[in-house]
Amino acid sequence: MDKFSIKMRASEVDKHISGAEQILDLSQLGTACMSLINRALTHDKGTADFIQLKMEKKSTNQIITKAALPVTTLVTQTAEEGQALILSLLEEMGLDRAKEIVTMFPQTHNMRGAMLLHVDSLERLEPHKERGIRATYMDGVTSSHCAEQHGNKGVKNHFQEALILATKVANCPHILGEICISDDPHYVTGYVASKELGYRRITTVKEHGSPYGGRIFLFRGTDTEKEEAIKFLQEQWFLVEHVPHSPCPTAPPPVPSPFHRYKQELAQWEQANLLREEKVLFPPSSPESPPSWVNYQGRNLLMMASNNYLGLTHHPAMVESGISALTSYGCGTGGSRLTTGTTPLHKQLEETLARWKGTESALVFNSGYVANFSILSALLRPEDVVFSDALNHASLIDGCRHSKATIIVYAHNDMTDLEEKLRKHWKNQPQRGQGFIVSDGVFSMDGDIAPVPELQALSQKYGLLFFLDEAHSTGVLGDTGRGLCEYFSLSHKPDLLMGTLSKALGSEGGFLCGNSIIIEYLRHKARGFMFSTALTPAAVACGKKAIDLLEEDTSLVLKIQENVRFFNECCKKYGVDAQSATPIFPIIVGEEDRALRTSHSLQEQGFFISPIRYPTVAKGEARLRVVLMASHTKEELDATAKALATALVDVP
Ligand SMILES: *Cc1c(COP(=O)(O)O)cnc(C)c1O
Repeated sequence: MDKFSIKMRASEVDKHISGAEQILDLSQLGTACMSLINRALTHDKGTADFIQLKMEKKSTNQIITKAALPVTTLVTQTAEEGQALILSLLEEMGLDRAKEIVTMFPQTHNMRGAMLLHVDSLERLEPHKERGIRATYMDGVTSSHCAEQHGNKGVKNHFQEALILATKVANCPHILGEICISDDPHYVTGYVASKELGYRRITTVKEHGSPYGGRIFLFRGTDTEKEEAIKFLQEQWFLVEHVPHSPCPTAPPPVPSPFHRYKQELAQWEQANLLREEKVLFPPSSPESPPSWVNYQGRNLLMMASNNYLGLTHHPAMVESGISALTSYGCGTGGSRLTTGTTPLHKQLEETLARWKGTESALVFNSGYVANFSILSALLRPEDVVFSDALNHASLIDGCRHSKATIIVYAHNDMTDLEEKLRKHWKNQPQRGQGFIVSDGVFSMDGDIAPVPELQALSQKYGLLFFLDEAHSTGVLGDTGRGLCEYFSLSHKPDLLMGTLSKALGSEGGFLCGNSIIIEYLRHKARGFMFSTALTPAAVACGKKAIDLLEEDTSLVLKIQENVRFFNECCKKYGVDAQSATPIFPIIVGEEDRALRTSHSLQEQGFFISPIRYPTVAKGEARLRVVLMASHTKEELDATAKALATALVDVP
């Protein structure tokens, strides 16, 4: 069977009044002609004195028929909101240069047809820049029932015409989608359409009264594909089924993409050089050996950034104990510690930790973060007060905040400030709830040591509980690696001695050592302990093995301490401004961007050193964090200090 295309153009003294096109059966042709002529003679814009009617015939099998794009109406109140929505829809389409594309839109204002834009190169591909590309030979298949019902005799309204065009364009090969804003000053609606998005009608995209509008067809492809697209748009006959009479009145509420705000914030972080990436590290290719060496982006780099202070992650005895636990107990525990998750390994680890740290009891958590968060939020009550060092680890801060206790932050390691705040608080609110002092033992990003004896003395003087986080001192400080109590030869242990198995001990899991009252209480109250599947047996076995190893032989502890001493000398020798009593050597560079560039320059020279930025440290205090391991050789440490000295001069 054949179909006929009728096109009508009407003008009055050379002024365009109206244009329309339809694709019809022969039987409909007469009526359609009459109604198009009527439209030209009774148009709001004037009475035509010149009407052109053009009719062509094509066989049905050369015509493509597709369903109309699904329509969604997005209600926006202002042009600005509408424009932001257009941008977010383009981003949703995955266009990297969405922002630039939006800024090109005004170039369409004087064009009659659409701009054909290459979305990657942003090249304008329409052969005639003034005229643009016109999509034509298309119509909706309106059932006669529907046409009668609406009394429109096959004449489509603005919305239907737009939807038919958008459907043809969305189905055009190599066209990703379309942006359209009406040039009618009284019609402020626009849309973004694509096969994936459908037809997203946006109620306000420009100011009322603005005569500016236009279209962009978003293209991606080669020169030949461009020709194919243009031919499709201009010559392919196209019928659209199921064209609704009006946009669905029960459209979903006016939400821009729910992801828009997250995307926006990510973009802001990128601007501020705060975007993080995960660096995927492979084992080094021979002959270098882990954990001192890693392979990153195909190159072996000296690892100078890991908290694996003793290199235990790859210790043969650790690996073997992990394998043996996997073999006996399987990969997971299948339940929380209070249901099915406790194995003899968990109990042995807790006994070992308590003995090694010299406390009555110990409790293991799934990570150091979970330990701090759930211990503090279980022990602190809203009426309590907690004195917290300004540079405490995020897990301590989060635990304190979650508890709703009053948090009083004292200046980093400043005992005068702490005591002043203690005195002031006790004068104002004598003994309301319980008081706590919470501090990192070794500060993770600064590498300095808390004045533990003074903190201890103050907590006793004021009747507070003292919580010490030994994440970075366990296995590293003290003659046998037992941490800060040994380092300071404390006769009395802090009340709550927290640590992690994930750093010097080379496994994972957090723990708390303390008296049996606290441990028993937390078993019933610490939600991170109660409501999370118990630590995997392999991690537990490895954690215990690490302590066994240190109890047998302290040479790794002595080696890391010797490396600390030696690296201090190296820094002095090459004029690098860094000293530390722990394996953490912060080198403050200030600007976030400079930290990134310096780290990158060191990477080029074969060193993996992490740039540390906000929110891990304060804005403008970005730094390189050099971290030593027992497995580093003297030559490696010397070379690191030398490379640092050069990089810090080379990268301004
Ligand atoms: C790393 C760290 C933690 C968290 O320990 P994970 O086992 O890594 O979750 C807690 N406190 C401090 C001070 C840390 O540096």
